[in-house]
Amino acid sequence: MSKKIGVNSNCPCGSGKKYKKCCQLLHQGAIAIDALVLMKSRYSAYAARECKYIVKTTHPSNREQKKDRDLWLKEISDFSINSSFERLEILEYQTGTDEAYVTFAATINGEKIIEKSRFLKEGNRWLYESGIFL
Ligand SMILES: [Zn+2]
Repeated sequence: MSKKIGVNSNCPCGSGKKYKKCCQLLHQGAIAIDALVLMKSRYSAYAARECKYIVKTTHPSNREQKKDRDLWLKEISDFSINSSFERLEILEYQTGTDEAYVTFAATINGEKIIEKSRFLKEGNRWLYESGIFL
């Protein structure tokens, strides 16, 4: 089981700031200014076990949205608790006005995964739409 991050821990997103001065602000309701900030805050949300934030920032067209909400939250929670989120590296970021792509390497449980995520802007909010592993 991973250790839960504290408010004074370094933010899991790798900003070098404390969690409480970085992604926690978004987890508490601040709006991500762009898709890259949103992506980083979602990675931090997994590390901080902010499961509802993951649901809230997932686009309605994502297939997970069809799942039973409690089951989905349980899956996010299990993944979050049983994983250790060691490192996030942003490899590429491309953005338009309402569509963006972030390619990142995440080291989780000592394993590096590379994902290209797609984000769409709905109103003033960026949302995670889908991702493919590279
Ligand atoms: Zn952060």
